[in-house]
Amino acid sequence: IQWEKQVRNSAQIHRSGGMLVLVTGSAGFVGTHVALALKKRGDGVVGLDNFNNYYDPSLKMARKALLNSHGIFVVEGDINDAKLLAKLFDTVAFTHVMHLAAQAGVRYAMENPHSYVHSNIAGLVTLLEACKSANPQPSIVWASSSSVYGLNEKVPFSESDRTDQPASLYAATKKAGEEITHTYNHIYGLSITGLRFFTVYGPWGRPDMAYFSFTRNILQGKPITVYRGKNHVDLARDFTYIDDVVKGCLGSLDTSGKSTGSGGKKRGPAPYRVFNLGNTSPVTVPKLVNILERHLKMKAKKKIIEMPGNGDVPFTHANISAAQKAFGYRPTTDLQTGLKKFVRWYLQYYGYHHGKRVN
Ligand code: NAD
Repeated sequence: IQWEKQVRNSAQIHRSGGMLVLVTGSAGFVGTHVALALKKRGDGVVGLDNFNNYYDPSLKMARKALLNSHGIFVVEGDINDAKLLAKLFDTVAFTHVMHLAAQAGVRYAMENPHSYVHSNIAGLVTLLEACKSANPQPSIVWASSSSVYGLNEKVPFSESDRTDQPASLYAATKKAGEEITHTYNHIYGLSITGLRFFTVYGPWGRPDMAYFSFTRNILQGKPITVYRGKNHVDLARDFTYIDDVVKGCLGSLDTSGKSTGSGGKKRGPAPYRVFNLGNTSPVTVPKLVNILERHLKMKAKKKIIEMPGNGDVPFTHANISAAQKAFGYRPTTDLQTGLKKFVRWYLQYYGYHHGKRVN
C-alpha cells in the first residue's frame, strides 16, 4: 500500500495535458536530468532503477535523493522483472516510457559482456512486452547511441547511414535494440522513438567517462591516459551538453505520437523514428584536456598512447537536421561553457575549495 501510494503521488500531473512518464534508469546521469525536467514542467514522473554498481553507487544514491526532494519516487528494481513492470503499469496509466536504463560504456564490455545482454537486450524485450500488455500502451522513447555508426567514416553521421560495423559489444546491443524496437513497432503498433545520443556530459555525470575521470585525476595529481588514433590523429567526439540532450528528450516525447495497439493498421501505423541528438561540433580529446586544465587552473600529466582496439571509435559527428525538423532540436551549449558548469558542480559535489578537498 505504501509503495502504491508513493508511486501514485509521484505520478501526479500538475499541468493541463500533462504526460505520465515512467523513466527507467532514473538514478543514472541522463535519467536524473530528464526526470527533473519533466517534473518541473508539471508532468507525472515515476523512476525505475536497479542501482547496479557499474560505477560509484553513492552517486546514484545522491541523484535519487535529489529526485526525492523534488517529489519523484524511484522504484528500486530491474527492467527484467516482468512482475514488477506489470504492477507498475497496473498502478499508473503511463502515457510514455522514457527508457534510459542500460549497461553503458564501451570498454567494460570486455570485462562483463553479459551485463550488456542482460540490460540492453533481455531487459529491453521485457520492458517492451510490458508496454505491449499495458492499457493504454505507452509511447516509448529510448536511448540508442552514436556508437551504432561504429567505424563508419562518412561524417557527419546521418540517421540513414550504415550501422553495420559496430566497434564494441555495447554498440552491437544498441544496434540490436534498434532492430528489436522496430519489430515491436510494426508487429504490435507500439510508438517508438530511438535517440542516438552523442557523448553526453555535464553535472551529475558518469564517472566512467573521460571528461569525468580526467577531472578527478587532474585534481588528484594523477596521470591521465589520452588515446590517439592511427597515424597520430587525435580522437574527436561530438560532446553534447546534458541540458541540450534533455531538451531533445522532451521534444521527442512531446511529438512521439500514440501507440495504436496490435493490428494498429486500422488506425494508421504507429510512428517509428530514430534521431541523432548531438552537438554538430566535434572537439578533439587533447582540446578537451586543455579546456579542463583552464577551468581547473591545473596542468594534466598526460600519457598519450595509441588507441587500443577495445571498442572506441576514432571520431563522432552528428548531423542533427532530422531532430531539428521534427521538434526544433537546437543545441546551444559549447564544450567550453558546458565543462565550466561540470567543473563547478564537481568541485562543489566533492567538496573542493581553492583546488583542495576540504571534506
Ligand atoms: P547511466 O549508467 O548513468 O544510467 C543508466 C542507469 O540505468 C543506471 O543508473 C543503472 O543503474 C540503470 N540500469 C542499468 N541496467 C538496469 C536494469 N537492468 N534495470 C534497471 N535499471 C538499470 O548512463 P547514462 O549516461 O545516463 O545513459 C543513459 C542512456 O543513454 C543509456 O541507455 C546509455 O546507453 C545511453 N547513452 C548515453 C550516452 C552518454 O554519453 N551518457 C551516449 C550514448 C547513449
